[in-house]
Amino acid sequence: MTKCKHLIVGAGLSGVTLAERIANVLKEPVTIIDSRNHIAGNCFDYFDNNSICIHKYGPHIFHTSNKEVWDYLSNFTKWHPFFLKVRAYVDGKTVAFSFNLTSIKESFPEQLANNLINKLISVFGYGKRISILQLRSYKDAELSFLADYIYDKCFVNYYKKQWGCTPEELDASVAERVPITISTCDDYFQDKYQGIPLNGYTKMMEKMLDNPNITVKLNTPFDKSMEYENLYYTGPIDEFFDFQFGQLPYRSLEFDIREYDQEYFQNNVVVSYPDNYDFTRICEHKYFLNNKSDKTVVSFEYPSEFVIGKNERYYPIPRPETKDLYNKYLDLAKQNPNVHFLGRLGDYKYYNMDAAVERVLNFFNKGI
Ligand SMILES: Cc1cc2nc3c(=O)[nH]c(=O)nc-3n(C[C@H](O)[C@H](O)[C@H](O)COP(=O)(O)OP(=O)(O)OC[C@H]3O[C@@H](n4cnc5c(N)ncnc54)[C@H](O)[C@@H]3O)c2cc1C
Repeated sequence: MTKCKHLIVGAGLSGVTLAERIANVLKEPVTIIDSRNHIAGNCFDYFDNNSICIHKYGPHIFHTSNKEVWDYLSNFTKWHPFFLKVRAYVDGKTVAFSFNLTSIKESFPEQLANNLINKLISVFGYGKRISILQLRSYKDAELSFLADYIYDKCFVNYYKKQWGCTPEELDASVAERVPITISTCDDYFQDKYQGIPLNGYTKMMEKMLDNPNITVKLNTPFDKSMEYENLYYTGPIDEFFDFQFGQLPYRSLEFDIREYDQEYFQNNVVVSYPDNYDFTRICEHKYFLNNKSDKTVVSFEYPSEFVIGKNERYYPIPRPETKDLYNKYLDLAKQNPNVHFLGRLGDYKYYNMDAAVERVLNFFNKGI
């Protein structure tokens, strides 16, 4: 490979956003490589034989309150409006999830449910969103009863499956991603802008890359002999530095994707299984874009430990010791001024899609 002015490693949303900016704004040539045989990273989707859009690496719903990010991506796609609602299988039935006032009514006898709802509203206020750890710390008999119920049924086993530890062993920000909502609003996300690219994420990113200044090379892992003036690395930062301080840990997932010869499998796009069963959720893909077919495709999601060569890195594990380890790599990174680390693997940070785009736009706008 000849020497590139700009070499981007990783054709996920972070890398693709940066390639688009360099090509369209700076009007400079840029090469983007990915070890996988497709672009779009973990947002990759495709249409199967039944014209159902499959999210290969798990359900991806775009949501943001950042108008700049929404407007930016809207240059490359129209949107299918989509407001995610999740049901969870708890105590033998499905209830609204994450827990809200409707779930309380669906879980308890009427009088008890009303008492719990009134108490939640009087203590925290209608419309508030609180974390399970906050609710558990509140000293009140009724709230403790509710907190213990939700903790036992929706968090303890879920954490054991998803993270391999207890809620207390992880950064509180993880529990805050699944708050208890003190209203009947069952929208999983509260952001102003929500949707799914009308023709899928892959098509959206193809359009972002559609510029003669951009060269895309798939099936091309980064190798240290590659020559560049500037490197933007959205792969794992620890791997770049040959794991010299040790490996940054991740959780992984296995997706068991199955086709069924029936119109629908379940009555909701995502049903979570926080308590029993080895999988954590079942996702039915035809709901994303409202695809019509006599068949349906669902994926069962099984969390597991990440092991190099065996599976993929999905979720960084937010704990003080992993932050310390990441900071050691960050210090090393600062000694290489023409190498920039970005994206969820480069920054070792769980980014939603909007945060990944925002991070890259901010990086680019500062001047590269
Ligand atoms: C199961 C799951 C569900 C999610 N659902 C949502 C959701 O509903 N809404 C939302 O906003 N966000 C969601 N996300 C987050 C979303 O996937 C990320 O925000 C997004 O993928 C970040 O893009 P990225 O480019 O930083 O990383 P990635 O998508 O991981 O892309 C990195 C790319 O770099 C490539 N790469 C790595 N190392 C090398 C190397 N050495 N050489 C060449 N290529 C390399 C990889 O193959 C990959 O394609 C979800 C994430 C997961 C795991």
